[in-house]
Amino acid sequence: MELVTLHELLTDARRNKYAVGGFNVFNVEGVKNILETAEELAAPVILQAATQEIEYSSGECFISMIKSLGSNKKVRIAIHLDHGSDFAYAVKCIRYGFTSVMFDGSHLPFEENINQTKKITEVAKAAGISIEAELGTIGNTDENGERIENPYMTDPEAVKDFVKRTGVDCLAVSFGTVHGLYKHELSLDLERLERISKKVKIPLVMHGGSGVPEKLVKESIKLGICKINISSILQKKFADGLRTFLMNNTELPWGINLFNAASETTRDAIKKHMIMLGSSSRI
Ligand SMILES: [Zn+2]
Repeated sequence: MELVTLHELLTDARRNKYAVGGFNVFNVEGVKNILETAEELAAPVILQAATQEIEYSSGECFISMIKSLGSNKKVRIAIHLDHGSDFAYAVKCIRYGFTSVMFDGSHLPFEENINQTKKITEVAKAAGISIEAELGTIGNTDENGERIENPYMTDPEAVKDFVKRTGVDCLAVSFGTVHGLYKHELSLDLERLERISKKVKIPLVMHGGSGVPEKLVKESIKLGICKINISSILQKKFADGLRTFLMNNTELPWGINLFNAASETTRDAIKKHMIMLGSSSRI
């Protein structure tokens, strides 16, 4: 296993016009599914978790689980804090051994977002890891597929100033995607993404990648998206797999068979996304 920073993964993605999947994980099944699929496809990958997902076990356990399960695999990975909300927790994650952290100050006024992001960037850089920030807002992680209103999208005119003053490695931008599974036909503001992309040279990040049609994924990658976050669709597939297995096995199921069945359904979705992002055969 090669553990690298987000910056290293995304620099190659930007140069070669593909995107790396940022897959949310919190338990053994999730980590195994991502690592084994990444090895099979020779795809670089980001294993990421928001605070609640990390604290499902603990920061130490989360990192040990990934390192232990990855130790005998040929994989190139980054371990990333998703939607970090405060300085202290970001520092904790750096100490646990994360190779990148996100600070999401998108709900803050512009200057305050810059100030707080810059503070965490300085610590991250001193520790030799990468940082992702967010400008404009994709919304909270508990929002579920609702349309995002135009005023919340990233202002292309503000991007250059933000990146220059914070020094972040990559930037999550808002141009129509939202968290959760889409309840409406998705339309993306690609013209806005193109304008953003012309302003800065750093890799851009798409949150809310579950269920974005392939055509829009590919167009977004052409316009500078190098990291695409995938979470909701994997949770749905795992739940679908569990439900089907339990309906077909009404006697007391053996736990290993139950989780293996759900993992199989999930891995199909992981594979499909890694191929769609163009990240397979990149190691
Ligand atoms: Zn997100």
